[in-house]
Amino acid sequence: MSIRLKLAGFVALQQLLTKRAALVRQRDLPPEELARLRDRHAERQGALQEQDKEREALLAEQVTLEKELAALQEEREHFRRQKAQVTNMRQLTAVVSELDHVESRLAPKKDRLTEVRRKLDEAEAKLQELETETPEEKAERELAEEAWAVARQAGEAELSEVERDLRRRQRELGEPAMTQFKKLWTSRKPHAVVPLDGHTCSSCHADLRPSLVQLVRSMEELQTCDSCRRVLYDPEQLPKLP
Ligand SMILES: [Zn+2]
Repeated sequence: MSIRLKLAGFVALQQLLTKRAALVRQRDLPPEELARLRDRHAERQGALQEQDKEREALLAEQVTLEKELAALQEEREHFRRQKAQVTNMRQLTAVVSELDHVESRLAPKKDRLTEVRRKLDEAEAKLQELETETPEEKAERELAEEAWAVARQAGEAELSEVERDLRRRQRELGEPAMTQFKKLWTSRKPHAVVPLDGHTCSSCHADLRPSLVQLVRSMEELQTCDSCRRVLYDPEQLPKLP
């Protein structure tokens, strides 16, 4: 195999591997806009759950308070009836004292119940507000999901094509050249074969000796950058794959 053919094969492999990496990235990472919409949705769901938990707690407290208040009111009724039946001052004093005691326990519970009911109203209102994303927001998110599904499908097809091309290139290069490429790739990935950028290496940006640039252009031997040891090629002679 001529050096020119081998180098062309290496360049094609490098470009296909770069393309494959980009496609895999695209497949695994939702676009920024979709990620933002998903985050917004998840955040809202989280807030909704949080608010719902708060409402549940308030509802439970309301039930407890109502029971306690009912019991205290019953107690108060009991002492009021007793008060109507007292026959002397000593009994009256005792009953009034009991009544005062009941009232003093009732008052804070009543206040708390009022507060709990107010908070419940607030929680309900907030829940209504949070309930769901607006139809516009939902449509926007679903549209972005769909667009990405389509893009992913196209990406998958392109990825299979790239995989196929990679296998074909590997076969064409043959065993010894592939062994050489793999060695290069292992130590220099994700860019093992890089184009000249004028008189510099496009990977590490080192200035190249004019004689080295000449050698790269002549394609008689594989040449590597003195600084990063990547294989160099002339993009004028081996242009980018379509
Ligand atoms: Zn370099």
